Amino acid sequence: MLDQSPNGAPSASDRTIDFLSSTHKLLIDGNEVHGASGETFETYDPALGKTLTSVPNAKQTDVDAAVTAARSALAGPWQKMAPSDRAQVLMRLADLIERDASWISEVESLDSGKPKLHIAAVDVPLAVGALRYYAGWCTKLAGETIPASSPDMLVYTRREPIGVVAAIVPWNFPLCQACFKIAPALAAGCTVILKPAEQTPLSALILGKLALEAGIPPGVLNVLTGDGTTTGQALVEHPGVAKISFTGSEEVGKHIARTASKTLKHVSLELGGKNPNIIFADSDVDTAAATAAGAIFFYTGQVCSAGSRLMVEEKAFDQVVDRVVAEARKLKMGHGLHEETTLGPLISEDQLERVNGFVERSRETGIDVVTGGRRGKGELASGSFYEPTVLTGARDTDGVVTDEIFGPVLTIQAFESFDDLVKRANASSFGLAAGIWTHDIAKAHAAAAAIQAGTVWVNTYNQFDAAVGWGGFKQSGYGKDNGREGLDKYLQTKTVWVNYAR
Ligand code: NAP
Ligand code: MG
Repeated sequence: MLDQSPNGAPSASDRTIDFLSSTHKLLIDGNEVHGASGETFETYDPALGKTLTSVPNAKQTDVDAAVTAARSALAGPWQKMAPSDRAQVLMRLADLIERDASWISEVESLDSGKPKLHIAAVDVPLAVGALRYYAGWCTKLAGETIPASSPDMLVYTRREPIGVVAAIVPWNFPLCQACFKIAPALAAGCTVILKPAEQTPLSALILGKLALEAGIPPGVLNVLTGDGTTTGQALVEHPGVAKISFTGSEEVGKHIARTASKTLKHVSLELGGKNPNIIFADSDVDTAAATAAGAIFFYTGQVCSAGSRLMVEEKAFDQVVDRVVAEARKLKMGHGLHEETTLGPLISEDQLERVNGFVERSRETGIDVVTGGRRGKGELASGSFYEPTVLTGARDTDGVVTDEIFGPVLTIQAFESFDDLVKRANASSFGLAAGIWTHDIAKAHAAAAAIQAGTVWVNTYNQFDAAVGWGGFKQSGYGKDNGREGLDKYLQTKTVWVNYAR
């Protein structure tokens, strides 16, 4: 349990202390219930390496109950609610998240290690933005009439919800990943079972309570905390679930696709990335380099879109390395509740071991660790802190260049020509995002067309908007979150033929 004044961290608010000391329950059919087995698991504050609280570990019986509730809500209250009323309750949920933004950010910060101010400035507005954007779609799900060539036939289409959706989300943006899935699914008329990641279950529990307060009918949103191999697996196998909307690792995504094929579920996968951030010498190199540091070190590099592979035109290489290193050294590691913290811990000791393994192997193979490359010391030693790290001299085949590290580790490599750059940037098995920095408009568009990625940012990085689709190419997955495409994946089209011959 969290102390009132945990070692090195400011006190959490009374509301958070009360929440953490309460008994957490699953949300099934509008009721907060203990898991059927009574089994729980702990969630940690990774900045202190201390237990925060325990949550239920949902088992097959709980999954069955949640699916039954979601199926009856689908055919019942949610389908019967007028589209304009559905829009109103989604808007109300957005308002309630905004009302509680500071508290939610505090809980999420403790659970994930991410600075509270970053959550309040980024995660909460993205979550709220998704709910408001998709609330607008509830009243706009129009079908069409089709001029078929058969005589005396009226042919029209209906856009219908696909069914019960299992939303399975990772630990790096728990609240907003949940809303990126819940908002379009509910707008489409689907009902949802949300399974948050084991490391960060708390904001999902809060979201479930707020959904009820907003007037979302019982059973429309169910929340099951639990581990992936039990709760997640049971959802993916369940014949009553129509769609899996997944964000997470490539390995689990592929496993889910294989498992879901047995019941022919719809699947969408938002997976990892190894995103090239490309600086041409004709750009505003200083701004590009400063932004590149933010693109990798934001949330300690634990971001699917992290610009983890910085590629710089030879002439600008030294200038970029100097500026990125200077930015890295300015970052202030610390507890997420400290206002001055700009770099929180990694999510767990396992993640730290993995990240450090990449850096250690780099050292052994002669790659230059220009800055960082060690875990936090002193009062940071009990948390999973890792210094912002910059590597130069890596080859394209080295693990640090090919693999998603998911930590504050940046490789900077030089490129010679446009063609060299495109070939090397596209050599990755991933294709999530890319950044391009240049003042040459022709070069910018040519590179945007040539780079294999679901999103390309030109002279900017990490821009997100509920109206703009997000999702990867290649091994980064398929199916977009956000935007019109993010809605379509929760809808199926029915064709109706009406004979009006007299
Ligand atoms: P993960 O290990 O794949 O877990 C993601 C979710 O899947 C968790 O809720 C996990 O539960 C669950 N899960 C695990 N095994 C499962 C199974 N057999 N059946 C069903 N569900 C299962 O990913 P992570 O480590 O939490 O997140 C990091 C990864 O997410 C990175 O690769 C990152 O790039 C990716 N990501 C992608 C995007 C994007 O938009 N493309 C955004 C954010 C993150 P447990 O927590 O209990 O294991
Ligand atoms: Mg935690």
